[in-house]
Amino acid sequence: MSTLQQLEDLHTSGVYAKRDLTIVRGQGALLWDDQGNEYIDCAAGHGVANLGHSHPKVVQAIQEQAARLITCPEMFYHPVRAALLEKLTALAPAGMQRAFLCNSGTEAVEAAFKFARYSTGRTEIVAAMRGFHGRTMGALSATWNKKYRQPFQPLIPGVKHVPYNKPDKLDAAVSDQTAAVILEVVQGEGGVHPGTAEYLRGAQEICRQRGALLILDEVQTGFGRTGRMFALEHHDLQPDILCVAKSIAGGVPMGAALLGERVKPLTPGLHGSTFGGNPLAAAAAVAALDVLVEEDLPAHAAETGATLMDKLQEIQSPLIREVRGLGLMVGIELKQKVAPFLQALTARGVLALPAGMTVIRLLPPLVITHEQIDRVVEAIGTVLTEQTDQ
Ligand SMILES: *Cc1c(COP(=O)(O)O)cnc(C)c1O
Repeated sequence: MSTLQQLEDLHTSGVYAKRDLTIVRGQGALLWDDQGNEYIDCAAGHGVANLGHSHPKVVQAIQEQAARLITCPEMFYHPVRAALLEKLTALAPAGMQRAFLCNSGTEAVEAAFKFARYSTGRTEIVAAMRGFHGRTMGALSATWNKKYRQPFQPLIPGVKHVPYNKPDKLDAAVSDQTAAVILEVVQGEGGVHPGTAEYLRGAQEICRQRGALLILDEVQTGFGRTGRMFALEHHDLQPDILCVAKSIAGGVPMGAALLGERVKPLTPGLHGSTFGGNPLAAAAAVAALDVLVEEDLPAHAAETGATLMDKLQEIQSPLIREVRGLGLMVGIELKQKVAPFLQALTARGVLALPAGMTVIRLLPPLVITHEQIDRVVEAIGTVLTEQTDQ
C-alpha cells in the first residue's frame, strides 16, 4: 500500500469499502492507475461516465464556464441554466416542462417526495423490495437494503416496500393515503432486474386511478444507459416525477427532479438548494446532453449492450446462474459471492461493480468500443471458467 493510500485511509470517513488502486487519469472507456496500468472501466463511477471519461466537449464547456462564472444561485436568471432546462425538458416525456435542479441522485429523490406530499396532501410512499433510491433520510426510507437502513432508525414513517414486478402486490399496497409510488425501471443496485412492461404500466395505471403520483427513479438508467435516452421509453411510460442524476452532467455532480402536469405548482421557499442549477454544472450538462444526442449514444448502447449480453450468454461456466440486463446495464448473477471475481477481473484490467453479494454489474461508458467489449468478455470468461479454489 502506498503512502498516499495510507494517508487517505487515515483521514477518510471509513464509509467506503476501498479497492487497492489509485486511479489518476481517464479517457473514453479507459482508466489508468498511478503505476501506469490500463483498465477498461465497467464501473464508470457507478454509471456516471456514460460519455466516457473527460469527454473533450465537456472539458471545454467546464473550462470556459469556470473562467466566466462558477456560482450563481437560482434567485438570478442565468443563460446556461435556461439552455439546460430547455434541453432537459425537451428530452423528457411530453408534459414534463419543469425541473428542480440539485446536486445528486438522493437529492432528486428527496425533492420528489416533498413535491409528492405537497401535491397530494398525502404522506405515504410505496417503494419496491430490492429498490435503491439513495442514502439521505427520506430517500433511505425508500431504499430496501436493511444494511443501509437499520442503523439509522427511525426513518420517515409511512413507507411500504412491496415485491418488484408483482402488479397485484402493488395494487394491494396503494391506497387513498399514498402520496407516491417510487420505482426504478431497471433495479440497479438491487441486482440488475429489469421491470416488466406489464408491471410498470400497471403501476402507472394504479397511481392515476388512486390519485397517487408515479415517481420513476432513473438516476442510474437515464441518459442512454439502457439503449434509450430514458429507460421509460422502452415501455412508453409517463411518470409524474422523473428523478435523474449520475451521468447528467458528464461527470460533474448534478441531479434533477423533472415535474409533470400532476405536480402542483410550487411556490417560492417550498424547497431549494444553494448549488442547484449552478452555471458550472449546467454548462457541463448542456455539453453532455449535446454529446449524447450528437453521438447517438443511446443507440450505441443498445447495439453494444446486445452484443455484450450475447457474448456473455455464450460463456460456459457452472458458476453463472443468469445473465440479464437492458442496453449497457448488465448483471451476471453467480451461484456464489462475486468479490473474489471482481478482484480477479481487476488483475486482468477490467473494473466492474457488485450489485448485492452475487451479481457482477457492468455499467461501461456508452462509448465503449467492440474491441473493448471483446476484451471484457474474454476477461470475464477467463475468471469464471479457470480453476479456482473459491
Ligand atoms: C445512485 C442512485 C441513487 C443515489 O444517487 P446519489 O447521487 O449517490 O445520491 C438513487 N437512485 C438510484 C437508482 C441510483 O442508482
